[in-house]
Amino acid sequence: MAAASTLPEGLVRQFSHIIDRDQMSQAYIFAGPAGAGKKALALWIAKRLFCTNLQDGQPCNECGECLRIATGNNPDVLTVEPDGQSIKAEAIRGLKDEMGKSSVEGHSRVFIIRDADRMTASAANSLLKFFEEPLPGMLIILTTTAKNRLLPTVLSRAQIVQFPPPSWQAVADQLANAGVARSLASVIARLTSDVEAGTELAADEAFQNRLNSVLRLTGLLAHADAMAFPFIQTDLMKQVGDKNDQRQVLRMLALVYAEAMRRSCGQEAQLLVNNQDVAQLSTQSTVQLSAGLDAVLTATGQLESNVGFQADCEQLVLKLLHGAPAVSSN
Ligand SMILES: [Zn+2]
Repeated sequence: MAAASTLPEGLVRQFSHIIDRDQMSQAYIFAGPAGAGKKALALWIAKRLFCTNLQDGQPCNECGECLRIATGNNPDVLTVEPDGQSIKAEAIRGLKDEMGKSSVEGHSRVFIIRDADRMTASAANSLLKFFEEPLPGMLIILTTTAKNRLLPTVLSRAQIVQFPPPSWQAVADQLANAGVARSLASVIARLTSDVEAGTELAADEAFQNRLNSVLRLTGLLAHADAMAFPFIQTDLMKQVGDKNDQRQVLRMLALVYAEAMRRSCGQEAQLLVNNQDVAQLSTQSTVQLSAGLDAVLTATGQLESNVGFQADCEQLVLKLLHGAPAVSSN
């Protein structure tokens, strides 16, 4: 089950005002990262326009109209999504045929085109014809995570609404609601704001192995154990495939150091709360942890300038070990 994004409250308020004043435009572009609530807001607007039982200006989510919109069964609320990698002209023409028909229920019609940046050039051109010959009561909402890939001719004909990224707490809550363990959800929510992608990560064994490897490395670093150096080759390297995996490892290590630093400043534990290795790392001084976080970020930069991952990590581990006090055995 794909988890639904939460509604962006600020934008809901704005659109409430706009609809109350009957000032809706005919075309909007909802731009923002995955998980920001673009589709959720588009459906909220459709419900707000169609609901037969508004509660304090909010859709009731219970009437026939609201339920049909929620389940994708309202003939006046049509959604087009990419078929594979792209949205082809036929899909837009199909929409146009629907648009040409008079409204089934005699009121507004809402057309939602998701990932509109994936429209082929001919699909985008078909869409422009709608903009040139708008029908009364027609509302088109395009959603995109890559606004700069939309044609200028499309961009210039619609109102652009920029969505803020969701907070990691909101993403973690949604992941937890989708059945992801809390401790894992709080890590994943910092790696992606896309709940669907996050749910997939949670189920990915290779991802879990990478995280566990990073935590074992954390344990070695927390104890200033020189075995952290060979660990890169004997363990960590086996958990990474492509560059995205490599980035993810450094990102997780940065999260661990940032969390340890927060705790060493006296703040409440927020991430990997029950992990002993992170707790041990948090006993290092704030200055050391801050230098450690800096080193991880430097390593991240070097990875992007094509330093090999193993060499990059080995160099990093030497820095992190050098900065940590040796654990005294006497
Ligand atoms: Zn309703």
